[in-house]
Amino acid sequence: MSIGLNHIAGRWQPAASGATREVIDPADGSAIGLVTDSAAEDAQAAIAAARHAFDIDGSWRRTAGPKRAALLLRVADAIAARTEELAVLDSRDNGKPLREARADIEDAAACFRFYAGLIGMPQGGVHEVTDAFGPMQSISMHEPIGVCALITPWNYPLLMATWKLAPALAAGNCVVFKPSELTPLSAIVLFEILEQCGLPPGTANLVLGTGLAVGAVLAGSEDVDMIVFTGSTRTGQAIARAAAGNLKKVGLELGGKSPNVIFADADLEGAVEWAMVGVFFNQGEVCSAGARILVEASIKDRFVARLAERARAMTIGRGLGDPDIGALVSEAQLQRVLGFVERAAGEGARVVCGGRRHGDVGFFMQPTVLDDCTPAMEIVREEVFGPVASIQAFSTEDEAIAMANDTPYGLAGGVFTSDGARALRVVRALRAGVTWINCYNPTFTEAPWGGCKRSGYGRELGANGLLEYQHVKQVNTNLRPGPLGWYEERRP
Ligand code: NAD
Repeated sequence: MSIGLNHIAGRWQPAASGATREVIDPADGSAIGLVTDSAAEDAQAAIAAARHAFDIDGSWRRTAGPKRAALLLRVADAIAARTEELAVLDSRDNGKPLREARADIEDAAACFRFYAGLIGMPQGGVHEVTDAFGPMQSISMHEPIGVCALITPWNYPLLMATWKLAPALAAGNCVVFKPSELTPLSAIVLFEILEQCGLPPGTANLVLGTGLAVGAVLAGSEDVDMIVFTGSTRTGQAIARAAAGNLKKVGLELGGKSPNVIFADADLEGAVEWAMVGVFFNQGEVCSAGARILVEASIKDRFVARLAERARAMTIGRGLGDPDIGALVSEAQLQRVLGFVERAAGEGARVVCGGRRHGDVGFFMQPTVLDDCTPAMEIVREEVFGPVASIQAFSTEDEAIAMANDTPYGLAGGVFTSDGARALRVVRALRAGVTWINCYNPTFTEAPWGGCKRSGYGRELGANGLLEYQHVKQVNTNLRPGPLGWYEERRP
């Protein structure tokens, strides 16, 4: 088995210690890869390479916009050309159904294309000012921030990498990228593609390793100008603290516990299927998962019965066999999810369907519906990150809104109703960064993504996603050069 290596300063290289780590197929627990397992010295070498590429070499930030865009378009084409290979890698690495993995790879190619297109858009502005100092012209220009550290989780391996790398590179930055240690395989292919497409050495550096050994070094480094992180709220808090040392810019896309509000006037079949997409897609390992389903009391029993009926009919199996639900990413994650269900039942939730491990090989979990949940239960308050829906009933719109917002998180939320005005009232009242009306979970490369409260800050995707990786500089020019005459010259 060949070893997946770091890519630092344009060279493929093992960790200095020579340590390696197995990559596990969650469908059967077997090893499907071996990758280098880096430590602080490897992270520092990657930071130094990015620093040199940005400060000394400077070739990427000085590359003319159309050439940068052309390179990113080549990357998009190369990703598209390797869709099947990348989808199989992500499906095996993460456990997700193959058709979901294919959609991720298509989105990843689209993301590079989108940011290639934005490179040519006008940015900055001209602000003419005439003041006490004479005629002046003030312009603002957008520049890359410098060296950006990018850290991603395991639930969308290639896509999360792309959401960060594409805008960071489009803006002219140099980067150090650390994927999750659980799902590093597609990132290695992405770096092969970046190299083949001609990205200058050191512009993008890949370091494979754990959060504590590598991620924490990136977060604390004085030589990193910005860190962008997707992952759990707890890790995000640690990163924000570590980043305070040199006050590097921070972007955090964190966890969620998002509400999905179903009114009695909604199309019931549509609401049930979209609720399934909301909570069972990607095995529920989705930051925006609509895991808290709030249903108007008059239809609650009908809704729950139908949701459970559909959940029981879902196919579960190895991602490559394209089931409805694949394996959870690890045994630890499966045990974590099972623990949530067991404690919920202990607190009085009714397990309508699922709740158990599926099979005895691999890390599979039955899609689970828990009814009779109450606001204080752990299952309603904590992010589960598994295929588990908690159901609560509400009686009025105001009550639904209050329940929806009763969470420390603020990533996403949905509403199902045939009353258009009510739909708008509810989403306007939701404290969340991403909302859906009569659908749940579709994501658009063109639209800004991110949360509020403990779901983090900053935005990825859309034009906002590019702005995050830029800083704005003022350039003020005296239009009448020469003595100002402000100070009277007095002879002593
Ligand atoms: P995690 O926080 O455990 O790990 C995420 C990444 O951070 C990994 O690469 C890990 O190695 C690294 N890391 C861990 N400790 C670190 C530290 N101290 N310093 C620096 N890096 C460190 O999260 P996970 O279990 O991989 O992913 C699941 C979480 O990600 C969920 O909470 C989910 O909601 C969140 N998520 C959020 C979004 C979003 O857009 N808001 C998207 C996907 C996932």
